[in-house]
Amino acid sequence: MIPKTMKAVVVERFSAPLSIREVPVPEPGPGEVLLELAASGVCHTDLHAADGDWPIKPKLPFTPGHEGTGIVVAVGSGVTRLKEGDRVGLAWLYSACGRCEFCVSGWETLCLQQKNAGYSVNGSFAQYALAKADYLALIPRQLSFVDAAPILCAGVTTYKGLKETGVRAGQWVVILGAGGLGHVAIQYAKAMGLHVAVVELGAQKARFAKELGAEIAIDADSQDPSSEIQRQIGGAHGVLVTAVSTAAFKEAIGMLRRHGTCVLVGIPAGEFPLPIFDVVLNRYTILGSIVGTRLDLQEALQFAAEGKVKATIETVPLEAINEVFERLRNGEVQGRVVLGIAEKASTESFRRAGAH
Ligand code: NAD
Ligand code: ZN
Ligand code: ZN
Repeated sequence: MIPKTMKAVVVERFSAPLSIREVPVPEPGPGEVLLELAASGVCHTDLHAADGDWPIKPKLPFTPGHEGTGIVVAVGSGVTRLKEGDRVGLAWLYSACGRCEFCVSGWETLCLQQKNAGYSVNGSFAQYALAKADYLALIPRQLSFVDAAPILCAGVTTYKGLKETGVRAGQWVVILGAGGLGHVAIQYAKAMGLHVAVVELGAQKARFAKELGAEIAIDADSQDPSSEIQRQIGGAHGVLVTAVSTAAFKEAIGMLRRHGTCVLVGIPAGEFPLPIFDVVLNRYTILGSIVGTRLDLQEALQFAAEGKVKATIETVPLEAINEVFERLRNGEVQGRVVLGIAEKASTESFRRAGAH
């Protein structure tokens, strides 16, 4: 039985504590399904959303969350792809038009009509969420709901970003920031056969990066990252910036080898200066990368299903969201925090879906 109301995290004002409210459970319309959520990762983007950091802001009030995993509990009209009990993941790309030049060329992430979970539509920090059947990820059976959650954004975003660097097996990539995104980026890069260097703040995070497979870990608090990378490896073929710091973006350019590519993925509010002469004479490529397509996501999940990538996860209840945001703001999270939303396989629908 689907209840009439549910618990949801709600942002009522920007940069203010979030509330936990009892709100109506929505009903799926045509092409939509209703999910009962088991878990949701907490991405730094959720914090940017709740703080209203970016030029385009979400409409208040809203429920954040775009690393949601759970099962389909109700199916709207016209849905043929999914049925009740299917294990699915709700990611940032909630929906796109399916018809524009971007959608038809494998760039649905650039669709101007797209909706985003936890930003332009309510997301996964709740017991239930609506989703578009065609845009949900299918969670491989080897993955638990908790382990799959961080792959839905941190995983796919860094996997896609690494592909966008164009770095080939045997070449060097530098990953700036080994937080929620960066710590899985290290594992994707290793699985893709790349040499990996990491830049982080503090000895503890540098050590964490090494434990995950980074061959070089630079503590930007005590070393100069650009000159260290140039000295140790002669510059990197590619750099992936996940750090929430505009200073890190400026430093990243100085880490490139000639002909190198720097992929910007972190989205701190602000700008950074580019040394035009260096970019031109060294033929650098600098590009932005936004999450990944549904195909990228299915590939990213497969790496995790095969055991090649496993997020370091701390599970907390939905009610802990304000403390989690505070710790993210201060760089105090190691790996990813995942909200455990459903009591483990406690509900009838989870039992039927063989959930774990
Ligand atoms: P996080 O807070 O878990 O990790 C950020 C890490 O950056 C922290 O570990 C922090 O110590 C580190 N850091 C901060 N300053 C640094 C510096 N100067 N040098 C090196 N490391 C530094 O955040 P997250 O969830 O990994 O998200 C990271 C960023 O990526 C956010 O801005 C988020 O909005 C963005 N993001 C972008 C996309 C996309 O599609 N482009 C997708 C998801 C998240
Ligand atoms: Zn995210
Ligand atoms: Zn489109």
